[in-house]
Formats: sequence, structure tokens, C-alpha cells
Amino acid sequence: MTLFHKIIRREIPADVVYEDEHLIAFRDIAPQAPVHVLFVPKETIPTLDAAQPGHAELIGRLALAAAEYARAQGFAGDGYRIVMNCNGHGGQTVYQMHLHLVAGAPLGRFGTP
Ligand code: AMP
Repeated sequence: MTLFHKIIRREIPADVVYEDEHLIAFRDIAPQAPVHVLFVPKETIPTLDAAQPGHAELIGRLALAAAEYARAQGFAGDGYRIVMNCNGHGGQTVYQMHLHLVAGAPLGRFGTP
């Protein structure tokens, strides 16, 4: 079980900003931008690499929940970035698939080592 599962089970605290039957969203403990929220499915899926075709709707739900949050918070027009890190070279550190939403300032380019 990952620490994100423990957050879903309310065994460790988190600053939860959204939750429904499919997913939970909470603020990243070490924000990389003024806004940094993680969108995590409740179903166990360790990485994007482990996702199956049947997870397509759930992965879409993560992205749409992030977009809805950005609209509701009023920064969708200014813009934001969503990121999903996968495995070691992708920088994944918590092995429950999740989507990062970062926003709140102009973001630098990314992808360089
Ligand atoms: P990743 O590196 O893509 O696997 O993302 C994991 C993220 O989880 C990192 O940005 C961490 O800062 C964040 N994180 C780790 N522990 C916690 C926690 N207890 N509450 C909220 N975010 C966390």
C-alpha cells in the first residue's frame, strides 16, 4: 500500500480539495508551483505503464477533474500544466498512478535531464 492509499483511507492527513467515488485530489506536500494538486484514482494502478484499456475512462476522469478544478479556482484562462510521471526516468516516486496539476505562475519548459 502506498501513502496515497493511506490518504484515501484517511489514515494520514492531507489537504483534500476534491473527492468523488472514482478519485481524490489533494495539495502536494512539496509544491513545485503556487498551485500544485495531485489527482489520484481510488483504484490501485501503480503506474501509467500498468494501466489497461479499461482504465481509459478513469484516466480521462483525472484530467477532467483537474480541468474542472482549474476552472472553478479561476486560473484556467491563465493556464496550467498536467503531468503524469512514470517509473524511474519519469521521476515517479509514489507508485500509485497520479496526475499533477501545477499552476499559478508562468511555468518553465520541462523535459530536460
Ligand atoms: P511523483 O514524484 O510523480 O511520484 O509525485 C509524488 C508527489 O507526491 C511528489 O510531488 C511529492 O511531493 C508528493 N507527496 C509525497 N508525500 C505526500 C503527502 N504526504 N501529501 C501530499 N503529497 C505528497
